[in-house]
Amino acid sequence: MPDSPTPTQQELAVSTLGPCEIPTPLAEAKGGHGRFIEDDTRVMYDVVFHEGHDPKPAIGFERAGPREKIHFQPAKSKAAIVTCGGLCPGLNNVVRNLFYMHRRHYGTAEVLGIRNGYQGLNPAEGQEPITLTDSLVSSIHHQGGTLLGTSRGPQDPRVTVDFLQSQGVNILHTIGGDGTQRGAHAIAQEVARRGADIAVVGVPKTIDNDIRHCYQTFGFMSAVAEAERVIDRAHVEAISVPRGVGLVKLMGRHAGFLAASATIASGEVNFTIIPEAPLVLDGQDGLLARLGRRLDASDHAVVVVAEGAGQELLRAEKGDHAPRVDASGNELLSDIGLYLRKRIKQHFADIGNPVELKYIDPSYYVRSVHANAYDSLMTEKFARHAVHAAMAGKTDLFIGIWQGHMVHVPLSASCGQERRLSTGRDMWSAVLTITGQERW
Ligand code: ATP
Ligand code: MG
Repeated sequence: MPDSPTPTQQELAVSTLGPCEIPTPLAEAKGGHGRFIEDDTRVMYDVVFHEGHDPKPAIGFERAGPREKIHFQPAKSKAAIVTCGGLCPGLNNVVRNLFYMHRRHYGTAEVLGIRNGYQGLNPAEGQEPITLTDSLVSSIHHQGGTLLGTSRGPQDPRVTVDFLQSQGVNILHTIGGDGTQRGAHAIAQEVARRGADIAVVGVPKTIDNDIRHCYQTFGFMSAVAEAERVIDRAHVEAISVPRGVGLVKLMGRHAGFLAASATIASGEVNFTIIPEAPLVLDGQDGLLARLGRRLDASDHAVVVVAEGAGQELLRAEKGDHAPRVDASGNELLSDIGLYLRKRIKQHFADIGNPVELKYIDPSYYVRSVHANAYDSLMTEKFARHAVHAAMAGKTDLFIGIWQGHMVHVPLSASCGQERRLSTGRDMWSAVLTITGQERW
């Protein structure tokens, strides 16, 4: 599970706003002995050791959970929730669970919903926040997307903190991917510079599963389940015609976790192409020749490609060396799915043995479904612990799961270091075994 390199204990230290002197209003305080988490409780970073060897120095994340004494007076607190970046199954569940934890569990005075991502934290650009209510959130978990809206594009953290202070907000929950957590870190730093009493506590969101120190979060399993369904349809198409090829493009800008997981879940894929493994098309060992051999043997094939795969190849072909970027600074990818469709069709037409190719690009469909039961449970856990952390005055962190425990991950320890699927490890081996494809 550990990402490399192992962080130092100092890098995993969590920032706090100040002392915790207020007894928690939680029902657990009235008799739930042992329910509270002490601040010095850690979850070990690496739990694997070799018998007979000296144990490694214990490095660990701060364990999340309710504290007996908290920093904020709930009845005088105002929380705000913002969702940023791309859609992901479960965003609405997180919003709803954060709201319930604040209002029902702690009795937080008010919970604001920030409209359309970080844009809504800049009064010159965004819409006014809304006050969340029971009736507003009661049924949002049945829908994909986000009630609050989302956007891309940076905001000046000084403007954001001005706005939070003008609104009397003392807790900001940032739900989003790597970019969102980088933005949250910038906001927390500005808060610290001013000595303001505002907690910034994130909930990580990533369909690509590419956030460092975030082994898993909500939405991923729902996306895998949906992607598996799409692959099964592509397989049906492929087996129904002579020399049928089903080509499916899935999300995964830099990390192939979704493509790899859906491949393993489906069991019907013959070639999986991810950003972490170089794509070779030509030559005896290239994809086209291998696909030809597979079709000669079995008369059908399913190919899954992650959207970020083969970008080097496309760039070299176009002679375009300066990547274009979106409003948030993310590289705009060339369409590897369409390119592969063209190259595969062309290749087999050229050798006089054409294929019947069906191309399916379900990316937005996969990410806009509502959360499945597993992910709904995940959103509740993440939201619950985010509120516990914020009420205890912890800041500049997101909630993670590590070794099965909920933990506080300092934003500075995660930001700017994306997680990748290691082609030397189990998951990629499983893909190679199940597809029967060899390493390139
Ligand atoms: P996804 O994984 O769907 O791309 P994301 O959270 O990474 O989600 P982005 O659009 O990249 O989505 O970022 C979300 C928001 O965070 C955007 O408004 C973006 O401008 C802002 N942001 C990204 N990086 C920074 C940064 N270094 N400082 C301040 N804001 C940032
Ligand atoms: Mg991102």
